[in-house]
Amino acid sequence: MKSIAQNLQSIYERIHGAEQKYGRAAGSVALLAVSKTHPAEKIRAAVACGQRQFGENYLQEALRKIPEIHAPGLVWHFIGPIQSNKTRGIAEHFSWVHSVDRIKIARRLNDMRPGSLPPLNICIQVNISGEATKSGIATDGLAVMAAQINELSRLRLRGLMAMPEATEDITAQRRVFRTMREYLEQLRAAGYPLDTLSMGTTQDMEAAIAEGATIVRIGTAIFGPRE
Ligand SMILES: *Cc1c(COP(=O)(O)O)cnc(C)c1O
Repeated sequence: MKSIAQNLQSIYERIHGAEQKYGRAAGSVALLAVSKTHPAEKIRAAVACGQRQFGENYLQEALRKIPEIHAPGLVWHFIGPIQSNKTRGIAEHFSWVHSVDRIKIARRLNDMRPGSLPPLNICIQVNISGEATKSGIATDGLAVMAAQINELSRLRLRGLMAMPEATEDITAQRRVFRTMREYLEQLRAAGYPLDTLSMGTTQDMEAAIAEGATIVRIGTAIFGPRE
């Protein structure tokens, strides 16, 4: 098994390679290391390599691990499904939430964001593959949701997130990610100052970068398979 340092190095190389190949500016794609189910020890190994942005899906697990990891400039992103009773913990302990797909949840995050912290960065999760089982808002609700979130002063709407249906076909991957970029561009044209497309995982990061991802969310390729 390769070390986390080796894995991270090869992911940075894949990101930089894809930036070059698809004409993206160098450094325009950030790596979010998805550490769900992996122990604090593995996160510390990634921190020791300079990685600073981490994504977690389960609040309880995250609240156990976050206090065990210390480094200047750490940024925690919440990327999992959100139940109402978890909004306080998320608003208090994270800098970003990628998985907002209901206005009720956005309002609770806004109400619970401590005044001592900067506004919480928000991505709206889009159900881009149209699957009944997956989280995310249907695309026809996007404009209304953006307008509603934009009213909330303790939130800062940054962009869109998607977790599309898995496929190995890179043309199909790109088609879906391109649609995401088009939705982001529509919202920007409507006047929202959005700068974030959170899309691409271990399986489809190159396609996501080709289509404009600014954050890729990588778990398995860094930390190995999850239990
Ligand atoms: C687990 C997870 C990832 C990481 O997926 P990998 O295939 O392990 O890279 C990315 N985004 C979300 C929302 C996840 O839940």
